[in-house]
Parts: sequence; structure tokens; C-alpha cells
Amino acid sequence: MKIHEYQAREMLDRYGVPVPPAHLATGADEAAAAFERLAADGATLAVVKAQVHAGGRGKGGGVKLVRSADEAREAAQKMLGQPLVTPQTGPEGVPVEKVLVAAGVDIQKEYYVGMAIDRGQGRPVVIASAEGGVEIEQVARERPEAVIRMPIDPEAGLRPHQARFIAFRLGFAGKQVSAAGRILSRLCALFLENDASLAEINPLVVTTADDENPDGRVVAIDAKINFDDNALFRREAFAAMADLQEQQGGEARAEEHGLSYIKLDGDIGCLVNGAGLAMATMDLIKLHGREPANFLDVGGSATEEAVTEAFKIILEDPAVRGVLVNIFGGIARCDTIANAIVNAAREVGFTVPLVVRLEGTNVEAARGILEKAGDGIPTMQIGRDLTDAARKITSAIA
Ligand code: GDP
Ligand code: MN
Repeated sequence: MKIHEYQAREMLDRYGVPVPPAHLATGADEAAAAFERLAADGATLAVVKAQVHAGGRGKGGGVKLVRSADEAREAAQKMLGQPLVTPQTGPEGVPVEKVLVAAGVDIQKEYYVGMAIDRGQGRPVVIASAEGGVEIEQVARERPEAVIRMPIDPEAGLRPHQARFIAFRLGFAGKQVSAAGRILSRLCALFLENDASLAEINPLVVTTADDENPDGRVVAIDAKINFDDNALFRREAFAAMADLQEQQGGEARAEEHGLSYIKLDGDIGCLVNGAGLAMATMDLIKLHGREPANFLDVGGSATEEAVTEAFKIILEDPAVRGVLVNIFGGIARCDTIANAIVNAAREVGFTVPLVVRLEGTNVEAARGILEKAGDGIPTMQIGRDLTDAARKITSAIA
């Protein structure tokens, strides 16, 4: 699960990481008012930031420095209600419903600090680089030596000497060493205590020195936190932070119905039970020269309603040119799937070719249901086995 920058900043703040004050706005006047509030506390510079679940906003016009309430209003006006296209969103972009108006800082230098799970090592890892502000993946590719990776003990967390070591390696000096070390420790605690799968501050900045802070301050000005979906059952409070609107429409609806659905780039919609079978089905589609439009595992205990919803989600995707159903009935029963096919045909209609391969529990009953409904589903063909089904669907849309 992803959360927005403003929510991530609030979490960092709760964990004692210095973050400039900020106010959320859903309208242009509200953004202007937010600037006034920051100005009343002494800010002369602010940043208007589109709140979307995608990075690289700076490059797409989703981060704008402003110096007056009017500028803040204008920047918010331009962002709100418009799709924001960044290198991470795809060409259609994502709609901007909220902007954050944050007190701006004068930046002396930008750093990257983050935490993730290193699956190879089976441990959380601190990732840090003195080359912040840009995408860490790019730094890692082009100059791997510029990225520090330190695996940590999930029980002990980041030990003080490890935090200091990283801070030194990043080139922090003087008072900044302990400031940066503390931020790393707090980030690590936040990551471990909340089942995060990613927690990054990019950039962490040293501000330009002034009379009050001759060494500059070390503050987080952007944050991204993702949580492990498999741990959400014990993080009930986090559900309130989910932005269902922002999750792709179909994915959010699938989640509500207990289906695992992931949209992909191809044109053959798949409805399968079991993650392993779903993967194998996708492989077979590729083997026959096409690409799957989605991964969809209806699971073992899916109801007829949930499977009907699954068909609707698949059929609403304009990229889908054909649908392949591959069910090995075990706990999931073939007749449930057959009924869902009939429902979906009635409620939405299969205007694209449909190939169905069913085996296992209640398969005879399922065949009966489909035969009876056959005339109402003229684009339907039955696959004898998985290979036959893959051939039929790929040649039906060739
Ligand atoms: P992202 O592009 O989505 O990662 O958004 P960020 O919040 O990281 O902002 C992108 C870039 O805008 C940062 O790397 C900074 O260079 C710049 N930026 C953001 N906030 C400030 C600020 O308060 N002051 C200054 N001078 N630059 C900022
Ligand atoms: Mn950033």
C-alpha cells in the first residue's frame, strides 16, 4: 500500500525527523491561504506539491517554488484537476486532487536516504547516497559506488555506530553528523515498527547556513513510504490512509472483492484460480505470441458475485481483445465460475472472444450451465486443455 507524501511527512514528523511545516489544500484559494499561514510563521518561500502516488513530480511540473500567496494560488490552479505526467506515470498521467503547500528551504546539498527489504540477504537494508534529488535507481545503475547499502538486524535496528558510519560516508561534518545519524535511526524505527516495505527521504537536504544555524539544518523535504500489504491485517489504522481513487480503478474494486488483480500491458484478459496457475497461464499466452492484459487470481473461496465482478473488471479494460478463463476447480468450484460467466454475459456481454477451460470440482455441472447458456454467449469457445485454450484465444484475435 502506498501513501501520499503529506501522510509520509506526518509519520516522519511523529518519529522526530525534521520536516518543514506544510498544509494540505484541495483548492487554489486554500493553497493561497496555506501560504499565508506559513508566511505568518516566517516563511518567505514555499513549495506547492502535487499529491499523487508517483515520483519524479519535479520533472513533470508537480513541484513549484512560490514566493507569494498569489503565486501559490496560481501554481495550485495549474495542478489541481489536471493529470500530472511524470517519468513514472505513463503518458495518460494521474489526476491531482490535492496539493501540499510546504515551507520552502534554501538547499545547500541534497542526499538520498532510504530503507527497503533486501530479498537476497533476507534483511532490511539502509540505502544512502550523497547524490540525492535524482532517482536512486539511476545512481545505482550508473555509479554503484556512490550508493551505500547497509543490511541491518531487524531486531536491533540501526545501531548508533552504523548510523554515524553512514553519516560520515555521506560526507556530513560537524553537528550534521549526529543530526543525520538521528534521522537515519528514526527512519529505520519507522520502517521496522510499521511493516513498511519502502521508506525513503529523497531528498534529505542540508540547508544553507544562516545566523541561527551556522552549520545549516538537516531536513527531509520529500518522503515516500509503502507498507507491506501482507501485514495490513495488523495495521487497521492504515486503511484510512489508502487512496482508493488513486489506485487503478479495477485494482481497488478487485481488492474490495478479495481478488488479486494486477493490470498488465497486453490484450488477453485472464481469469484464473491460484497464483501459480495464473503465472503458468500468462506464460502460455506469451508462448503463443501474445501478452496478458492482467494477472487475476480469483482465489479459492471466491463467490459468484466476486467472480462476476472479476469479469466486469476485465471486460471494462479497453485494451482487452479476448478473454481466457482457466480454472482448475479445487476449493473454487467450476460451476461457480460458469455461473459468473453467464452473469457477466448478461450484465456486460462478451463482445470479445472468450475461451473457457475448466477442469476439476463440479466440472460436469459447469459444462451443463455453459451449454445451456451457449446461445447467449456466441463468442465463447471451450478449450480442451490449456494449450488448446491458449491456441484458440490467440488465433481468435489474431
Ligand atoms: P519529486 O520530484 O516527486 O521527487 O519531488 P521532490 O519533493 O523531491 O522535489 C523535487 C525537487 O524539487 C527536489 O529535489 C528539490 O531540488 C526541489 N525542491 C523541493 N522542495 C524544495 C524547497 O523547499 N526548496 C528548494 N530550493 N527546492 C526544492
Ligand atoms: Mn523526491
